[in-house]
Amino acid sequence: MTDFTKPSTCKCYGMQTAKGTCVPFEITRRAAHPNDVVIAVKFAGICHSDIHQVEEDWGPGIFPMVPGHEISGEVVFVGSKVTKFAVGDHAGVGCMVDSCRNCSSCSRGEEQYCVTGSVFTYNGKHKYQHCVEYTPEGGTPTYGGYSKTIIVDQSFVLKIPSNLDLAGAAPLLCAGITTYSPLIHFGLRPFHKFAVAGLGGLGHMAVKFGKGFGAHVTVISRGIKKKEDALTNLKADAYLDATDADAMTAAMGSFDFILDTISAQHDINAYLGLVKVDGKVVLVGAPNTPLPVYAAGLFFQRKTLAGSLIGGIKETQDMLDFCGRHNILCDVEVIPATKIDEAYVRTKNADVKYRFVIDTSTI
Ligand code: NAP
Ligand code: ZN
Ligand code: ZN
Repeated sequence: MTDFTKPSTCKCYGMQTAKGTCVPFEITRRAAHPNDVVIAVKFAGICHSDIHQVEEDWGPGIFPMVPGHEISGEVVFVGSKVTKFAVGDHAGVGCMVDSCRNCSSCSRGEEQYCVTGSVFTYNGKHKYQHCVEYTPEGGTPTYGGYSKTIIVDQSFVLKIPSNLDLAGAAPLLCAGITTYSPLIHFGLRPFHKFAVAGLGGLGHMAVKFGKGFGAHVTVISRGIKKKEDALTNLKADAYLDATDADAMTAAMGSFDFILDTISAQHDINAYLGLVKVDGKVVLVGAPNTPLPVYAAGLFFQRKTLAGSLIGGIKETQDMLDFCGRHNILCDVEVIPATKIDEAYVRTKNADVKYRFVIDTSTI
C-alpha cells in the first residue's frame, strides 16, 4: 500500500523528446497535501492536442512529457481537508490542474481563461503561490494521465456520475467539455440548424450534444467514409461531404451555427459561406498555421467567427451531470499502452471511431 503522504513513484508512458515514440518510464508524484485527491487512473483518452504538443505544433514542449488530459479513475486517497471526494468515488481530471483562483475569469468559474494562465495537466509548470509545488524560480512540471496515478487539488477534480462507464467517460473531460461549452455560451437552440465540421473525437461529441440540445444536426466530413455511421450510429440528421463542391454550394447559407473541430489547415471561408445571415462559426480545432479569412465573407451577412477553449470546472461538472442524466458517453476504442504510437498515427489519419482510450492497467 503506497503512503501518499510522501512523494511516490508512478509508472507512466510518455515521450522523452519532441516527436519521440511513447515509452514506459517512472515519474515522482508529489506528497499529497491536505487539499489533494489521489486518483488511480483507469483510462486516459488520446486527444489530438496530445499529438500537437508532442510534435511541438504550438511551440516548444517540456520533455520528458507524459500526455493525457482526459482522465477517469477511482479515488484512492484524500487529504485531510478534502470535502468533495471520498475513497472509492469515480473521479476525473481534464486539461487544468490549477489557476490563479483570483482573477475575474477564475472568480466567474472560467478558470480556462485565467488572466495569468491556468496550469495545464501536462506540458505545464506549477506557478501559483497557493500551490505547494511553487518556487520563485518556477514550479515543477506537470505530468498527465498516461500514468497509474495522478494527484490533484480537489478544486480541479470532477465527479464522474456512477452510471457512466469509465472508459467512455474519460474523453468527456476534454472532447466533451470543449464541445459542450460553446453550445451553451453561443446559445445553440432547438430550432437551429447546427453543423459539426470534422468528425473525430470532438466532432462526434458535438453531434451527441447537438442532438441532446434538440437541434437539427449535420455532419460535415471529408468524403463519404463516415456517412453511414454518422447517420445511423450517431443519429445525425444530415451529412455533407466537404469534398463535394456541388453539395457545398447547395448548402451555402443554410446553417445557424457551425462548430469547427478540424485539427489541420482548411479553408475557413468555405465554412463561413455555409452559415446564414447572423450565423456563427465557432472554432475549437487548433491547426498550427493561421486560417486566412475574407473580411467580406463575414461582414456582408453579419456573421460571427469565434473561438472557445475547453470549459471551466463548474461547467465541466454540469456537462458530466448532463451526460449522467442522458447516458451520453464517448465512442471509444480501448487500447493497451503499447499501442499509443499506432493510435497517434491512426488519429492523424482520421481513422478512429471516435476516440482512443488507454487502459492504464497495461502500464
Ligand atoms: P481528431 O479526433 O483527430 O479529429 C479531427 C478531425 O478533423 C478529423 O477527424 C477530420 O475529420 C478533420 N480533419 C483532419 N485533418 C483535416 C484536414 N486536413 N482538412 C479537413 N479536415 C481535417 O481530433 P480531436 O481530438 O477531435 O481534436 C480536434 C482539434 O481540436 C485538434 O486541433 C485539437 O488540438 C483541438 N482541441 C481544441 C480544444 C479547445 O479547447 N479549443 C480542446 C481539445 C482539442 P473528417 O475525417 O471527418 O473530415
Ligand atoms: Zn484535449
Ligand atoms: Zn485566474
